[in-house]
Amino acid sequence: MTDEAEIGKILHLLRPLPDDERRLGLLKRIAADGGKLPPRWAPGEAQGYVYWPGVARDLRELFASDLAYLADRDYLRRNHSDRLNRCPACRSASLNIREICPSCGSTNLFAQPMLHHYRCGYVGAIGSFASEGEARVCPKCDGALRHLGTDHEVVGEQFGCRRCFASFEEPGVEALCMGCGVKTAADKLAFDDVFEFEITNLGHAALRSGRLFDRDDEQMTEPDLPLYRRQVGLALLRDEVRRQARYRIPFSALMIRTRRPGEAAEAERAVVLQVRDRLRDVDHLGRYGDDTVIAMLPATPEAGARVALDRMLGQIAQRPSATVVTFADIDQVDAALESAARQVQA
Ligand SMILES: [Zn+2]
Ligand SMILES: [Zn+2]
Ligand SMILES: [Zn+2]
Repeated sequence: MTDEAEIGKILHLLRPLPDDERRLGLLKRIAADGGKLPPRWAPGEAQGYVYWPGVARDLRELFASDLAYLADRDYLRRNHSDRLNRCPACRSASLNIREICPSCGSTNLFAQPMLHHYRCGYVGAIGSFASEGEARVCPKCDGALRHLGTDHEVVGEQFGCRRCFASFEEPGVEALCMGCGVKTAADKLAFDDVFEFEITNLGHAALRSGRLFDRDDEQMTEPDLPLYRRQVGLALLRDEVRRQARYRIPFSALMIRTRRPGEAAEAERAVVLQVRDRLRDVDHLGRYGDDTVIAMLPATPEAGARVALDRMLGQIAQRPSATVVTFADIDQVDAALESAARQVQA
């Protein structure tokens, strides 16, 4: 029996369990496989990929919603893995993507080299030069082309269509859906982002505790830390950025690295508590990455955030690496945070 079939059998045992136990079971499975769950390409499946090939189809849908549940609540992180093109008509991922004639749409194309005759400057497809023994004859000046690189050069390719005899330098690119037969220009295709799942700090904490932290009083914050969960914190941050845009109330944030590679959770806890102590009541502190948090400072312009940052860092013994983040508009929130996280992790 293959590993996949074995894993499928184990996962099928989760079917009759209550939701929370089944979801915890999936987390355990991912932990046992190294903490990551990559997508596997599955050309025979409508979805185009599956997470556990050994799991029966009817159960996959349930597990897919469990994975989304766990990721939306920060037990799992979605890492971008690939982008999957789909037919906009039927959503199939089985596409034959090929070059076509821009005039008639035929795929019956040929390519030929383009030659440049140095002496007269003529550029044309190789077919436009007559052959004369070893040499080619230039159609413009009747001169002979004998040595590549000395009297002429190849300057790219020209395409020709065997159906309508058009010639062109750039063929079109089109996808033919193998499911429904619809043809779509390559730049008009639908697509899905495909993710790998990875267990977060919160996911590991749930595994250690043997339960998900989903009670009403637990859903907003991380267990034992005065820190909003990632999705909760990011939602608050987006609200502040929108408020800034609408009412011109300045907003800044601090990206703070809470631990260095290899440092234990306790070390992070000490830094988080000190940061929280030095924030105002109106400020929010939220998780960003496994080793980063965001302090959100409402009604604070960039200069004020710098003052807060300097004062805070001067008072924390561990001297965590941190930077001020500002947001030009809501569409740039993700990019601004990613860049700040890279900066404090450098
Ligand atoms: Zn054509
Ligand atoms: Zn010539
Ligand atoms: Zn289709």
